[in-house]
Amino acid sequence: MNSDYDVVVVGAGPVGSTIAFYLSKKDLSVCLIDKKRQIGYPLQCAGILSNHIFDLNELPENLILNKVKGAFLHTNNHVLNVEKDYDVAYIIDRIAYDEYLFNRALESGVEFINQKAIDYDLDEGIVFLQNDTQIKSKVIVGCEGYNSVLSNQMGNTQSNFNASQMLVEISKDDISKFRNAKGNNEIYVDTYLREDILPGFLWIIPIGEDLYRIGLFSNESHKKQDLILNDFLNDNFKFVIKEKYKGFIPIFNEKNKLICKRGILIGDAAGQVKPTSGGGLLIAFDACKIASENIFKSIQKDDLNYLKEYQEEFLEKYLKEFKYQFKVHKTLNMLSNDDLDYLFIKLKENDCEELISNYGDMDNQSVLIKEFIKRGLIFKIIPKFLFKKVTNIFGF
Ligand SMILES: Cc1cc2nc3c(=O)[nH]c(=O)nc-3n(C[C@H](O)[C@H](O)[C@H](O)COP(=O)(O)OP(=O)(O)OC[C@H]3O[C@@H](n4cnc5c(N)ncnc54)[C@H](O)[C@@H]3O)c2cc1C
Repeated sequence: MNSDYDVVVVGAGPVGSTIAFYLSKKDLSVCLIDKKRQIGYPLQCAGILSNHIFDLNELPENLILNKVKGAFLHTNNHVLNVEKDYDVAYIIDRIAYDEYLFNRALESGVEFINQKAIDYDLDEGIVFLQNDTQIKSKVIVGCEGYNSVLSNQMGNTQSNFNASQMLVEISKDDISKFRNAKGNNEIYVDTYLREDILPGFLWIIPIGEDLYRIGLFSNESHKKQDLILNDFLNDNFKFVIKEKYKGFIPIFNEKNKLICKRGILIGDAAGQVKPTSGGGLLIAFDACKIASENIFKSIQKDDLNYLKEYQEEFLEKYLKEFKYQFKVHKTLNMLSNDDLDYLFIKLKENDCEELISNYGDMDNQSVLIKEFIKRGLIFKIIPKFLFKKVTNIFGF
């Protein structure tokens, strides 16, 4: 097949830049396209990555703003403290990270075109650009983020949670009071569960001296989320809002295709976001590794069937955990503020802070839930009237 490039990657977010880099390292000719004037802007991320990041991508030390050992978990009236004796997560300068991954791709030989992709011909491998030009390649990789044009063209149904975030100045003392904790506990993050944002949650991420990213994701509109965030801040702190951001968190849909003809989706475009945490980077970086091997094979052997292996391998590795996390969503959706308080009281009474500290994993919640089930704790912590429903959801 005559083509301008082996691969065209649309979207130079962290995922597009990473797959473009991997493919050019395999000596494929790669073109990366993005409509943005400035890569990485505007910020749409809390910037928290679990320590597994180092198994999945490079993360330069100078882009780490904070290292986190644990979390304070809140309901309206209760707080739990969970922690490990090592760093479990890193808080990063996400804009600088996007720029780093983009520059790494360019330095390895990827060509960049600053244009918007408006249409695709998946039979011929053509990307149509807004400036009336077109680019032909053997494989098109869609990394355009949420609401991907390529995904739509594959016939997929995409849906998202709304997400809102603010950069806020708050004193350490105020944060300690909110946690019912003493002393300097900057190295923790906070999560807050309340019924009006379930199955999402609110987060507080420390990024520097008295500076926090405070945000939430939920089914509510951005306007309502803004009100919730403002009320939350007013109720708990003296604060100064420095910046505000809005975004979307895709909801994984197992019926959607990850590949179609010469097209393949990765990252938010593929809905590859953990349902419970809203985290998308680690899983998508892993998907980049899987996809790069299969794209390489399909081009080397001139056989598009190899692309199918990407979808199979990805689902084999992640579908079970996704399904588990959707069951957690279903359970959370049934809870009122009183139920959440009850749950936290029972967790405390049953010494579960230690159990969560030991088994909690921000990427894979199924590990902890299975531990609760194994130890017979699940029925000690959920309100009685929910026993039957939870049994039905989890099937035990
Ligand atoms: C508020 C919020 C907080 C989050 N916090 C975290 C977190 O703490 N940890 C975590 O792991 N994840 C987090 N996420 C999710 C994470 O940010 C995403 O999963 C991640 O950005 C996905 O990267 P991506 O490259 O797939 O898409 P994006 O980062 O969205 O990049 C897509 C790129 O494609 C370009 N593009 C789109 N359409 C076109 C087109 N037609 N033509 C050309 N270019 C196009 C865009 O300009 C953009 O540069 C958060 C998300 C939100 C909204």
